[in-house]
Amino acid sequence: MRIWTPGHNYLTDTLIMWGITSILVVREVLKDYSSVKIIGSGGRYCIELPDLDLNKFNTEFCEYVRDIIDLEGLEQLIKARRRRALGGVVRGTIRDAVDPDTRSGVAKAIYNLISQKIDLSVFTEDHKIKFREGRVGGKGLTLYIPLSGIYGKFATFEHEYKDLRYSVCPACVAFAAIGMNEMAIISRRRTERVYVVFGFDGEVTLDKLAPFIREDWQTVVEDILNRAFRNDASLTALGQAFLVFSNIPEEVRKKMPNVLWYLIIYSYDVGRTKRITGFKPLDLMPIKDLITKIIDIEPNYRYLPGLLRTLIERVSVEKGGDEIINLMAEYSINRDPYLAYKIVRLLRSLIDKLSEQKAAEKRVRQRLFSLLDLSLAEALLSAV
Ligand SMILES: [Zn+2]
Repeated sequence: MRIWTPGHNYLTDTLIMWGITSILVVREVLKDYSSVKIIGSGGRYCIELPDLDLNKFNTEFCEYVRDIIDLEGLEQLIKARRRRALGGVVRGTIRDAVDPDTRSGVAKAIYNLISQKIDLSVFTEDHKIKFREGRVGGKGLTLYIPLSGIYGKFATFEHEYKDLRYSVCPACVAFAAIGMNEMAIISRRRTERVYVVFGFDGEVTLDKLAPFIREDWQTVVEDILNRAFRNDASLTALGQAFLVFSNIPEEVRKKMPNVLWYLIIYSYDVGRTKRITGFKPLDLMPIKDLITKIIDIEPNYRYLPGLLRTLIERVSVEKGGDEIINLMAEYSINRDPYLAYKIVRLLRSLIDKLSEQKAAEKRVRQRLFSLLDLSLAEALLSAV
C-alpha cells in the first residue's frame, strides 16, 4: 500500500506523517521496519507500506488512542450531546498543548474515526479533493489552528473566520493530533504555547527513523525551552532552533537519518486571544552542521549543551547570555570568523559582569569558568 499526506500545508502534513509513523513504531505494528519507505517532498510525504496488515493497524490504533483519550467517558459525552465538553476526556501531552476547542475537536475526530472504522487507505494522492477539504465550504471538521498554523495571516479578517473555515476529514485531525502528541516539542511562554516540529525532505526507511520516534527526547528539550522562557530569554527563532538541536541527547542526535531536515517553530496563544503569535519554517541543516562540528569533530568542544543551559539561567540572561545563543545560531548561517571572536569576547565579558558577591551570580560565574576553555574557540573557528 502507498499513501500520501493530503497536501494541506507543511505543518499539518508533517504532523500527519508523524501520527501515522508513530502508531507503527510505538505500537510495534510491523516486524520489519526497513520495508517502509517515507519520502518527503516540499511539505508532502508519501509512505510506502508493502507489508502492512490493516486490521492490526486498526487494533493498535485503538489501543494507542486509549492512552490519550478516555474512550468510555467520550462515548457518554457524545450520547449526552455535550459537544463542547468533549475535550475533557483528552489526556497525554496534547491535553495541555492546545486550547479547549481544539481539544474537543480532536476528541470528536477520534470518536468519528473509531466508530466508522479507521481506514489508512483514505490517504490517496487526491485525498484532499475527494474529501472536499480546504476552504471550499465542505462539511467536515475544522482544522484547528494549533494543528495547522494557517489562520495566522487571516487574523485581521476575524469576522470572516467562519467563511474561511478550513475543513478536513476526521483522519486528518486525528493523525495530526497524534503526530503532535508524539513528536512536537511543546513549551510554555506565559499564555502561549511554543511548538517545534521536525520535518524533512528526502527518502528514508522507517527503521532509520524509528529511534527518533521511539525515544522520549522531547521532554529534555522542553524543559530547557521552558526554563529559557521562564527566565525571559529573548531568543530568535534561529536561537531557539540552536538550543533545541544541541540539547537532543547525543545517542538520538547521532542516529538521526541523513535527510534534509527542517524545523517549523510556531506559537499560539491558548489564553483568551487565541491567535498564532509566530510561525517560522527554518532549514535545520546549517545548525545541524555547526553543532555536529563543534561537539563531535576534533578540535571539538563537548560542553556546548551545558554551556547553553548555563546561558539561559536568569542571571546570565539579565547580562546578555541569551544574546550569545542568538549569535551562535547566526554563526551557523554566516560563518564569518569575526562572529566567532565576538561570541568568545561576549562570553568573556559575561563572566566579568557576574558578581562574585551575589551567590546566584557567583555560582553561574564559576560554572562558566569550568565550562570554558580554548577548545570552544578552536571548534568554532574550525567550522568556518
Ligand atoms: Zn482528510
